[in-house]
Amino acid sequence: MALTADFIGQLRRACAPPRVLTEAAECWPYGYDNSRLHAPPGAVVFPESHDETAAVVRACREHRVALTPRGRGTGTTGAAVPQRGGVVISFERMDRILELDAANRALRVQPGATNRAVQEHCAGAGLFWPPDPGSADYCTIGGNLACNAAGPRAVKYGTPRENTLRLKAVTGAGETLQTGALTSKSVVGLDLTRLLIGSEGTLAVITEAVLKLTALPARRRAMRALYDSAEAAGEAVCAMMSQPSLPCALELMDAICLDLLRAQRGWAAPPKARALLMIEADGGDDGVREAAAALREAARNAGLIAFEEAETEDESARLWHARKTLSPVLRNFRPCKINEDVVVPVARIAELLRRLREIGERHAVAVAAFGHAGNGNLHVNILHHPCEARAAENALAEVFSTVVGMDGSISGEHGIGLGKRDFVPLEVDAATLEVMRRVRDALDPDDILNSGKALPPR
Ligand SMILES: Cc1cc2nc3c(=O)[nH]c(=O)nc-3n(C[C@H](O)[C@H](O)[C@H](O)COP(=O)(O)OP(=O)(O)OC[C@H]3O[C@@H](n4cnc5c(N)ncnc54)[C@H](O)[C@@H]3O)c2cc1C
Repeated sequence: MALTADFIGQLRRACAPPRVLTEAAECWPYGYDNSRLHAPPGAVVFPESHDETAAVVRACREHRVALTPRGRGTGTTGAAVPQRGGVVISFERMDRILELDAANRALRVQPGATNRAVQEHCAGAGLFWPPDPGSADYCTIGGNLACNAAGPRAVKYGTPRENTLRLKAVTGAGETLQTGALTSKSVVGLDLTRLLIGSEGTLAVITEAVLKLTALPARRRAMRALYDSAEAAGEAVCAMMSQPSLPCALELMDAICLDLLRAQRGWAAPPKARALLMIEADGGDDGVREAAAALREAARNAGLIAFEEAETEDESARLWHARKTLSPVLRNFRPCKINEDVVVPVARIAELLRRLREIGERHAVAVAAFGHAGNGNLHVNILHHPCEARAAENALAEVFSTVVGMDGSISGEHGIGLGKRDFVPLEVDAATLEVMRRVRDALDPDDILNSGKALPPR
């Protein structure tokens, strides 16, 4: 899409130079995300305020130019890739933390602030924002909200949808929205906050958020359990999630992950171990002791072969090490792996692990699974050579249909973007999909915002 001089002039009036890039070499880095897809935009703009953002959206609408909101491009689905060219709107310069209201446990923040900056700011007041993606050092609050990105702590504290009070945004029509309320309860009007969260920048561009904070627990205790089968680990996950003391993290690694860690990192786990659970409890001094005891008890079953509990920070780091080094190990094994994040009802985790194993065998590719077992949310990695791409794609399609058939969902936290768009009708029926498209038409009538993503075309 070639951008006219008239349009570029309008962008420059909205965001004064040098906050508009048009040189191809300067725009190039804004064409990728962690999906490894790439498409260069025609221009990149860096607004510094809500009003500047609104002016950019209005210019794009007037000239029917595609507009792609961008945090830091850590998303895994191509959602921030400007595949129709046009303009990328980057929030790098809207990264201020505006107001911490400790008494009301609320933080007003611009969308470009990183998740890490928010956590560090709140920690001083003994508070935190629960969503904690593995990319927290780089990813932005805008990106977290747009993807409803979570992480290990969601099992106890929820996702951005449960932890956001209010949003300010500009719709694709150029109108300003103020959603939600500053109070912890409100039933006035429709819940547009939850609608915008997870909509992957297809309805509106978020320019400000009021995040709902939680008190930082005084203590944490990490535990690691090894099982002789995926079924035994799945049984333990269910037992832990159905008793009152919820873990603040409950992460799983399957047999393929354990074998790769043994082979690549010399990890000394008993050969009988075929699944691992990382379990963490938090709370005050007494609370953490009680929660850990309850989780220890629930983790015990006939398939448990080893259980360790950290007494110190160093021991905790040692227990977590295997889980935290897993992603590079998988990528090292098969650089062109497919990385998905499906979710099933938690009581069906063991069944999912068995069916993934069968899918891998049927298509002759390795299907590794790890992740947020307490939410039933597993990162399914199809590890294949480039020459096995067709088999991997077929295995992926079967993973998605299997998950939907198990009352699950094809994305727990990464979103749909470009990669999974065509699988959405597996999960969402035609009539509901049409309502979603009409909502999109209402907020973005000229289809400029992240056009062609998240929902399949009509
Ligand atoms: C190493 C690594 C670990 C990860 N771990 C996790 C994890 O544990 N859990 C998890 O959920 N995800 C994880 N992710 C995925 C990713 O980090 C998250 O989805 C994150 O929220 C993306 O943030 P971002 O700022 O990079 O957004 P981007 O990738 O730039 O954009 C993502 C989406 O948000 C939209 N967007 C960005 N800003 C705005 C805005 N202001 N208004 C409207 N739309 C906007 C974009 O258009 C796009 O659709 C991981 C990624 C990596 C690379």
